[in-house]
Amino acid sequence: MQLRERRCPVCGADCSENLFADARYDAAKLNAFAYASRKTPEGMHLRLVRCDACDLIYATPVPAMDGLADAYEAAAFDSGEEAARAAKTYIAHIMRRVHRLPDRAGALDIGTGDGAFLERLLENGFTGVAGVEPSDAPIRAAKEHIRPLIRKGIFHESDFQPESFSLVTCFQTLEHLPDPAAVCAAAFRLLKPGGAFAVACHNHRAFSAKLLGMNSPIFDIEHLQLFSPRGVTRLFETGGFKEIEVSSVVNTYPAHYWIKLLPLPAKDMLIGLLKASGIGYIPVPLPAGNLFAVGFKK
Ligand SMILES: [Zn+2]
Repeated sequence: MQLRERRCPVCGADCSENLFADARYDAAKLNAFAYASRKTPEGMHLRLVRCDACDLIYATPVPAMDGLADAYEAAAFDSGEEAARAAKTYIAHIMRRVHRLPDRAGALDIGTGDGAFLERLLENGFTGVAGVEPSDAPIRAAKEHIRPLIRKGIFHESDFQPESFSLVTCFQTLEHLPDPAAVCAAAFRLLKPGGAFAVACHNHRAFSAKLLGMNSPIFDIEHLQLFSPRGVTRLFETGGFKEIEVSSVVNTYPAHYWIKLLPLPAKDMLIGLLKASGIGYIPVPLPAGNLFAVGFKK
């Protein structure tokens, strides 16, 4: 894989000497699963540096864009159940603010996976709903009536009409984008006046991240940057957004999914036992270290 150097993906400063952690990966182990979201963590990450001004941890150098696009296209998908639960959490955050949107006509979900969130949008009266997803597997897993709404490929602003959406969302995808500031600025241009951009991403300042240290699943080969409330606020400000609100996400997942994320030995056996006993399927709400941010085009 070809590597290229990066500057802070929010403010553009060169922080390459402000080392946070040396690279830890084995090229031979970069299997198809390394680029799927919500998969078993493998403890590998790129070289990480810190931008103190943005409170951002970001990877440099990173694999060149072409290599990334190929990896995402072929990435595996095994998380329909978790995707559905996450979509419920995110739609609740959106519906609390729906009265502040200009209307419910036009919603774009960047990194939509199997389109679980698109389903929730339709249920809640949104029209002109569209998703973008680079990986084949989740699109194949999408429900029959949702699949035609998903455009396959990397997000390109030019595929959509300016000022045509009331809502643009990007959930659990921000960490994966080679240029999150460009996507944030594109979202601004695609939104109607008064429209909202909403993201959900990991918070490297969260208690769970502190607790697990470098064993936290947020330190992952596929994550090109990690935000905190301050970092995501700066991203939104740079993109032109106003009335920015950041809150923490309480995710409700079955017990076996939480166990999957923990750095435990022999956890596959434990997960098997929990599933067999039924305990593994009990829904458990936890503030797992994700943040939700929304900003308006005012
Ligand atoms: Zn910065």
